[in-house]
Amino acid sequence: MRGLMQEQPLVVTTILDHAERFHGEQEVVSVRCEDKALLTSSWRQVARRAKLAALALKRLGVRPGDRVATLAFNTVQHLEAWYGIMGINAVCHTLNPRLFEADLEFIINHAEDCIIVADGMFAGLLARLLPRCRSVKHIVLLTDERHMPKGGELAEALCYEDLLEDETANLAGFSWEVTDEHQACGLCYTSGTTGPPKGVLYSHRANFLHAFAAALPDSLDLKSSSSLLPVVPMFHANSWGLAFAAPMVGAKLVLPGPYLDGPSMFKLMEEQKVTHTAGVPTVWLGLLEHMEQQRLHLGCLRVMAVGGAACPRRIIDFFEEQGLEVRCPWGMTELAPIGTISGVKGSRQGLGHEALVQLKLKQGRAHVLIDMRIVDDEGKELPWDGKAFGNLQVRGPTSISRYYKAEGPAVDAHQWFDTGDVATIDEFGYMQITDRSKDVIKSGGEWISSIEIENAAMGHPQVAEAAVIALPDKKWGERPLLIVVPRNGQEPSRDSVLRFLEGRVARWWMPDDVAFVKEIPHTATGKISKLALRRQFEGHKPR
Ligand code: ADP
Repeated sequence: MRGLMQEQPLVVTTILDHAERFHGEQEVVSVRCEDKALLTSSWRQVARRAKLAALALKRLGVRPGDRVATLAFNTVQHLEAWYGIMGINAVCHTLNPRLFEADLEFIINHAEDCIIVADGMFAGLLARLLPRCRSVKHIVLLTDERHMPKGGELAEALCYEDLLEDETANLAGFSWEVTDEHQACGLCYTSGTTGPPKGVLYSHRANFLHAFAAALPDSLDLKSSSSLLPVVPMFHANSWGLAFAAPMVGAKLVLPGPYLDGPSMFKLMEEQKVTHTAGVPTVWLGLLEHMEQQRLHLGCLRVMAVGGAACPRRIIDFFEEQGLEVRCPWGMTELAPIGTISGVKGSRQGLGHEALVQLKLKQGRAHVLIDMRIVDDEGKELPWDGKAFGNLQVRGPTSISRYYKAEGPAVDAHQWFDTGDVATIDEFGYMQITDRSKDVIKSGGEWISSIEIENAAMGHPQVAEAAVIALPDKKWGERPLLIVVPRNGQEPSRDSVLRFLEGRVARWWMPDDVAFVKEIPHTATGKISKLALRRQFEGHKPR
């Protein structure tokens, strides 16, 4: 027998409608790209302007199913444009401005974007890209007339504020046009850390459901009294769903624009009384350095999510000392993107301090929209004992089924998606990533976890950042090389670093050598680029 409840589609514009009606007065604060000025908007205003953006895009010829790209940092205009695009059945394709130009060109052409909505600061980049991207009919710059580029560069670009202004008379007759929850609303390409970029096409339904996962108490713990600062960009897997979760719960949203350095972050967090935040480890290390140097304290922050890459222990130790809770969820673009939540479970609350930190360093456990397992190379399921490590597979309504324009499915016959991560799962369901399958070091037929060695090395008081890659070895196949960035002004010795690792990692995991560098290369999403490091250290001979 079928239930007798209403068939309302789960579409993301419902989230914004809700925020407008029930949290209309709640603030949305945004740092302006051009001059770092603080703009204060509200959910009521965002909803109104998103509709104006929708009308403007329709006037420019956008039709259902068209891809409209955005090339922008986290700002209120970007947010309005997002909902405007999705609300007329078009697909919002977020472009990562930190990608190489060749990758951007590939992605824009692959998606066949018809319009690019961009921050003014990308005018030069777009002027170079446009001759190679034939599908793009218009560029809209997210700014006002005063800040439009003057002179020849991108003279044909349209001004966002002017376009919105022109539609004010038409607003009364407009309402959102999405009726099918399975309609595509977002497109995001994986950043190509391990191969050519692949498009993940989100549906309204997946994004709607995922917003709950992001807001859950054991996830980000968002509520209408929260002040949320998503440091993770909207172009990095939908800012981990936070641009949907914030209006869903009616939270205050604080958008930092392009200013993600330690001093700017600290100031914004203090001024806006930020209670919840999320970002990759690199950003938090920048904030940590600044706070340590200036002996600063964060008063309001309650929850800090550290994701996208393994969280160094130093981040947990430093920020939890400030009285907040650090959580290290795992996810990926293909999962919309949060795969795990990491609030400490009831049954684990009684653990002592050290055991609790070790638990927090794991990547949490699946939420209800995700099922998870580990398998060996033959596809045989491995035990949940916290020791056996194997290929991590997931499935569920917020997981990918096929890449955009791909011929075949991305999953097996039972819908399992192979994440490309290698992990353990313990008896309580806590998962721990030991590596990406492409980064695993295979020594004498056994796997060495580069992440565990990195975490141990980052505990050394003179080490700011650490990365481990495989060096080819005649006898063992591969051996680990540890690459270290010393902390400001420090000069740790090779021996002191290796001595520090003794007892912290298995003896046969000890790196064959330590190399010191000023900087470790990062990918477009702020993660350590092992690909670049492998190139840089090709042919390196251990001492
Ligand atoms: P890309 O594939 O371009 O790096 P994603 O942002 O989708 O883009 O990356 C997902 C990958 O990031 C995961 O498969 C995993 O390897 C890594 N990752 C994400 N979160 C964590 C975490 N908390 N700990 C360790 N690794 C993580």
